Amino acid sequence: MKRLRDYWTGIHNHYLHGPVVYLCYPRRISGQRSAVSVQLQSERAEFDLVPGLPGTRPARYRAEMHAAAAPAKAERRPLSAESSHRRKLKNPSLGLILLLSAMAGLDAEVSPQAQKLHNEAFVFDGHVHMITRQFYHGGDIGQRYADGHVDLPRLREGGVDAFMFTLYVTEKYYPQRYETKQLMRLFDLALAQIGRNRDKIEIALNANDIERINAAGRLAAVLDLEGSFDLDGDVGVLRGFHRLGLRVVQLPAHNWANEYADSCCAPAKWQGLNEHGREVVREMNRLGILINVSHASDQTIEQTLAVSTHPIVATHHGMRALNNIPRNMTDELMKKIAARGGVIGFQIGNDFHNRKIFEWRSQREGKVFWDTTEIARGKATLSIFEIDKLVAPQFPMVGPEGPDELLMSPDDWVGVVDRAIQVVGEDHVALGSDFDGGPILPRGMHDVRGLPLITEAMLRRGYSKQRIRKFLGGNLLRVFRQVTQGR
Ligand SMILES: [Zn+2]
Repeated sequence: MKRLRDYWTGIHNHYLHGPVVYLCYPRRISGQRSAVSVQLQSERAEFDLVPGLPGTRPARYRAEMHAAAAPAKAERRPLSAESSHRRKLKNPSLGLILLLSAMAGLDAEVSPQAQKLHNEAFVFDGHVHMITRQFYHGGDIGQRYADGHVDLPRLREGGVDAFMFTLYVTEKYYPQRYETKQLMRLFDLALAQIGRNRDKIEIALNANDIERINAAGRLAAVLDLEGSFDLDGDVGVLRGFHRLGLRVVQLPAHNWANEYADSCCAPAKWQGLNEHGREVVREMNRLGILINVSHASDQTIEQTLAVSTHPIVATHHGMRALNNIPRNMTDELMKKIAARGGVIGFQIGNDFHNRKIFEWRSQREGKVFWDTTEIARGKATLSIFEIDKLVAPQFPMVGPEGPDELLMSPDDWVGVVDRAIQVVGEDHVALGSDFDGGPILPRGMHDVRGLPLITEAMLRRGYSKQRIRKFLGGNLLRVFRQVTQGR
């Protein structure tokens, strides 16, 4: 009889299906079938560990809980953060998996020194997908989920203090011109759920708000739009959303050209920005909206820099020098953004930076991840509810599980940031994870709770505490302060 905990330090991923826990373990466990027992808190349960899906790496195992050994409800001692949620659970094994999930965040590879630095540092994540999951599947941002990368309890456990609360309108809404309505619906739900969780999270409209909210022990959420507020770029609509609290806006309509700015990943319509696009940029400057050029074409980025009186950011990005794809940025453009005081946020996944995983995924899916051909073919006959049904299954967006031997380690990932620092300097790099937006995470990272692995890898690389703090949040806060000051 082995204890599940013996396997635990190496467990790569897990998910729950009924009373069965599926475990993905990076090494094959010898023997066809071995039994494990679990001792967590006061709970004890017996599992059969059954190898599944032969040939896959990491190996997948099914751990089936013996019905007789299911822990009695009365014996369970809930963890404080999830106690209220767990009390509502009827299935005892679901209660158990929540405990298992909580343990997954405590990665053995993080030294006490790195954990301390990470906890004390101000961590500001430039791109975190929120609310689409709840919009399409119900639930609340304040509850703990067993899958996906983020929820409020796990953001706290990952040491996050502030984040861009990204509202994502998918391209599927474009053919019918539902994009503004869809953003309105996401806003409605986001404001309601943030309000319901006001003891844990609050909307920040400027940098002082972030500091005030953090001082009160709450997470600061900066409302951020991915996928365009309105394909025509009507500045009146922009002002309306600004009044609702929107403070960061992606200029292009995700991977599609809109009526005023070209995207990285669709045929150019304007060779950058048209006159109306320049008006939108000026209005964002006037209002104090941070301009995000992730997903923009090279010309759009270049021309935005020429018009904007404020620094700009690319919230979740990679470098063409490492993976030559249009979604990534040239060194030259990175230098120009930095020269104007802006920052480049680095996406936490493999797809942007790791050519091997990029090729593996493209081959597996039969297309590149920014492919937009479907938008052009999109039917303008679908109702908004039909589109909802069509897009719902992709949320929360977690990348496929990449082959272990191809994945970057946290040290490899920090190597990407290191290259960027050599190009633009330590004042112009930031974290822009894209959690729940589809990244294939570095090896050993399961969700937002794995962020201290990055701090650990930075310390291993010999970075000063000051440099690590700048990367984790200081740089992004500096730019956000500059743009929103006095507004
Ligand atoms: Zn994106």
